[in-house]
Amino acid sequence: MTDRDPDCLFCRIVAGEIPSDRVHEDDEVIAFRDIAPQAPTHVLIIPRRHVADLHDLTDADAALLGSLFGAARRIADDEGLERGYRIVSNVGAESGQSVFHLHLHLLGGRPMTWPPG
Ligand code: 5GP
Ligand code: ZN
Repeated sequence: MTDRDPDCLFCRIVAGEIPSDRVHEDDEVIAFRDIAPQAPTHVLIIPRRHVADLHDLTDADAALLGSLFGAARRIADDEGLERGYRIVSNVGAESGQSVFHLHLHLLGGRPMTWPPG
């Protein structure tokens, strides 16, 4: 697989071709605020390389998963989400996924309900 899909919105955000409000970046991962926030904090955490969703990762991607969740923990601390937060990753069209470049949603700053719709 190539690292980049030229038709992918989030690959274009990684490349800086589409602006985003970045809150974190490292060698493997970037994070930026969702354009349509569903909570006071709503950040998307994504790998720099193109992968469609969590289901497309393999055992060889364990380090990438660690980087994604490590970024989530740091952002939650930075955003003051000590009361709690939610991490969601939609996988596939039926889950509601609309951008097919793996992302974790980090949502916080308000009480959450369960189950999700
Ligand atoms: P999904 O529905 O795939 O789980 O989540 C995609 C998310 O990307 C949605 O929450 C949507 O608001 C967000 N999104 C879509 N286009 C853009 C964009 O151009 N910039 C940013 N920052 N977020 C976007
Ligand atoms: Zn992509």
